[in-house]
Amino acid sequence: MSDYKLGLDYAKQQDTLDELSSYRQQFHIPKDKHGNELIYLCGNSLGLQPKSARDYINQELEDWANLGVEGHTDAKNPWLPYHEFLTESTAKLVGAKPIEVVTMNSLTANLHFMMASFYQPTKERYKIVIESDAFPSDKYAVESQLRHHGYDDKEGLILWGPRDNEELLRIEDLEQILEAHGHEIALVMIGGVNYYTGQFFDLKRITELGHKHGCKVGFDCAHGAGNVDLDLHNSGADFAVWCTYKYLNSGPGSLSGCFVHERHAYDKSLNRFTGWWSHNKQTRFNMRHEFDVLPGAEGWQLSNPPILSMAAIKASLDLFNKVGLEPLLNKSKKLTGYFEFLLKELGEDVIRIITPENPNERGCQLSIQVLNADKSLHDKLTEAGVISDWREPDVIRCAPVPLYNSFEDVYLMVEKMKAVLKKSPS
Ligand SMILES: *Cc1c(COP(=O)(O)O)cnc(C)c1O
Repeated sequence: MSDYKLGLDYAKQQDTLDELSSYRQQFHIPKDKHGNELIYLCGNSLGLQPKSARDYINQELEDWANLGVEGHTDAKNPWLPYHEFLTESTAKLVGAKPIEVVTMNSLTANLHFMMASFYQPTKERYKIVIESDAFPSDKYAVESQLRHHGYDDKEGLILWGPRDNEELLRIEDLEQILEAHGHEIALVMIGGVNYYTGQFFDLKRITELGHKHGCKVGFDCAHGAGNVDLDLHNSGADFAVWCTYKYLNSGPGSLSGCFVHERHAYDKSLNRFTGWWSHNKQTRFNMRHEFDVLPGAEGWQLSNPPILSMAAIKASLDLFNKVGLEPLLNKSKKLTGYFEFLLKELGEDVIRIITPENPNERGCQLSIQVLNADKSLHDKLTEAGVISDWREPDVIRCAPVPLYNSFEDVYLMVEKMKAVLKKSPS
């Protein structure tokens, strides 16, 4: 990992050697107003569009135009079972069994539906643990669950935070929280990869700790799906949710993925919110039947899903299937390691990387703290053609995505950063 070299030639050479480099051509790379490709390092926020997405969506538009309602059964990819076309690829991508995954709703909605089942507070055990720097939507969601069940949303929330002068979370500290309060905690709900620091947690270890104390354990894997090896089944987690518009490149606001561990697949006694799409497929359209829940994650669906959005997901998953997760993660480690190497050349007195150094504790994102910087730095980078993401007070998040970013992208980003830093007196 340490044989990286400086200079543009090295970057170009690495792109030539990269077996996945041709996949970049399968994506639309956004351009500036002069028609030059931007350096897009924002796949952690919104993944780029696979060129194939248009054909996949057009297929459904055409079948809708030509068949109307008959498309449910007669479309080339019939709409009734359309979500099933995504199951196998999704399961592979997150390390789950097919019965454990489904694509439905949006992310935060799924988080609530999962909590309807796996957050079952009692007077003695009602608290929820989350990271102190959780994604705001996740924090709002768990707070509202506490209130919904009649608990105080401050008193009932336990924050797993970093120690003084640190950014990353330590598993020992979570262990301590559980030792001290485990008997009062109903749910441990953690972002599998923290959106801010990029820290990838040991999901299996967290789950074991939570379960040891009788808590349910769930993960928001919005920054994990398509970015790291989640291995959800083996983690033992009760549930997980993620979105498909970040690393899964399926379009703005696209649907969410949801995992429910196999051990819950046939448990009809679990409380849940239901709709006709969670009902037995054989009798769904009889319309007069007693509710009969489907086994597995499918049993949490509510509505017939938006096919146009699912078509984009299918286009993207077919690409992931072709590449395979392992080659992708290998490239990811190399590319992000290279990015880290170049950034470190700028000097510790200029920038600090808050993302873990250990490649097994992160995905492709690096969160870069720029000393004495404010948002104007980010604006200047944008002007220079680098699309990244700014988080107050002083962090730039950049994600070189192995499917479509190149070593040259990374090289040019750091060169532009250098130029911008030189120009801004701080
Ligand atoms: C992106 C993201 C969300 C966004 O939620 P939506 O319901 O899709 O708007 C929520 N939580 C995390 C951790 C995220 O990274």
